[in-house]
Amino acid sequence: MSPAALRLGELSIEGWSRAGEETWFRVHPPGLGFDAGRGAAALVGARDLFLTHGHLDHALGVPWLLSQRKLQRAGATRVVCPRGVAADLRDFVAAAERLEGVEYVHEIVELAAGERVEVARDLAVEAFEVDHVVPGLGYHLVRRRHRLRPELRDLPGAAIARLRAEGRSVEEEHEEIWLSYTGDTGPGVFTSAPKLPDSRVLLIECTFLGERTRQRGDLYGHLHLDDLVAHADRLSRCEAIVLFHLSRRHAGGELERAVARLLPALAPRVHVLVPEPA
Ligand SMILES: [Zn+2]
Repeated sequence: MSPAALRLGELSIEGWSRAGEETWFRVHPPGLGFDAGRGAAALVGARDLFLTHGHLDHALGVPWLLSQRKLQRAGATRVVCPRGVAADLRDFVAAAERLEGVEYVHEIVELAAGERVEVARDLAVEAFEVDHVVPGLGYHLVRRRHRLRPELRDLPGAAIARLRAEGRSVEEEHEEIWLSYTGDTGPGVFTSAPKLPDSRVLLIECTFLGERTRQRGDLYGHLHLDDLVAHADRLSRCEAIVLFHLSRRHAGGELERAVARLLPALAPRVHVLVPEPA
């Protein structure tokens, strides 16, 4: 199996995700990692790694990535994680350092919902609360952009250029949620993350579909396709919706067909991300 790759406008997303196996994504710009999987070579170049929770299919790769980055002299790594995970993650990484007899060049940053870290000149990552069975966070990639002040929008270009030449400020800064990544979550995320509907690109897990697994999502803190159907109105403004974390019980094509049937209005914007056969 090789990682799946998607290009959505200026964003490129590479990743691998199957429930219980491993989940990781690399997102350019700015080249950050969301979750570590079991240690993916594609993440070794990432300076910033955002961990959603401690389940090993998402977190096991953290010490391996720090080790690889040390070997390759890749520079300092910042690992951002939910506050409730940080102490155990520090112990986990410290044990790996003792096993290897080296010190990794890294920093572990704890976040709570609503807090953010800067990842590039015009990009920040803001955490939001998710609905999983262990402490977890999802992340918004927030882009700051400049746009013409609304009161100037009807002016001809020459008039705006004149104002600019006079040293007047013609632009204002605004923020958009360029991408959101839920990690593992149940349907509580639709209330715990009120900005989710504003995401231009939404990476949202969808582990189960069909009647037989209807109750499993609630049990394990995961989403069933029916949850997405129930909240479809909240997803109507997203330009792209990437579904990941599909259970091994289901083939990617099965989910695609179910999306076409149950979410016809959204289906053209939905991408089912499952690893491709190599
Ligand atoms: Zn999990």
